[in-house]
Amino acid sequence: MNALRIEAEDEQYAVGRDIQPITYRFGPFLLDSSRRMLFSGFGARPLPEKVFQILVMLLEANGAMVPKDAFFNRVWPEGHISDANLTQHIFVLRHLLGENARQNEYIVTVAGKGYRFAKPVESKLGLAMKGACERCMAALSTQSAAMICSFECTFCAQCAERAEFSCPNCAGELVARPRRRG
Ligand SMILES: [Zn+2]
Ligand SMILES: [Zn+2]
Repeated sequence: MNALRIEAEDEQYAVGRDIQPITYRFGPFLLDSSRRMLFSGFGARPLPEKVFQILVMLLEANGAMVPKDAFFNRVWPEGHISDANLTQHIFVLRHLLGENARQNEYIVTVAGKGYRFAKPVESKLGLAMKGACERCMAALSTQSAAMICSFECTFCAQCAERAEFSCPNCAGELVARPRRRG
């Protein structure tokens, strides 16, 4: 298992995918689909392209089973794909979510058929771009530096630093909010 190799392989297919700017929330995680960033209490990290596509398909299905063929057709349109390859990507995804194959907290294997997502999922268009710091009420534009937790509690840089980058509301890690261009 080598997550880095999967990441490198994915590069060439990463361009030109049309993904809706939807924010999904499940358990302690928040997925910002327009930036392929997974936020959690442990910080924010970009997802490898194919792992990201698989996660979005599971989240979109909203608890229904996604058959293996659906993954093969959408995530590997170039073909030449085996069950082992899908299993490997599911393994990486489970690892990112902090579970192993015997736990079924997030991803449930439907033997021989496919996978489904076990956690309730909330989705909405875009990332909440709150206009003010929740502590000092300083105005924050969508282009200015701001810090958010995985529940989108929002703080100015000074208040975030004073809170030692731990959200005063939920104790999750505060990370830099992506700035909106234009
Ligand atoms: Zn503030
Ligand atoms: Zn919070």
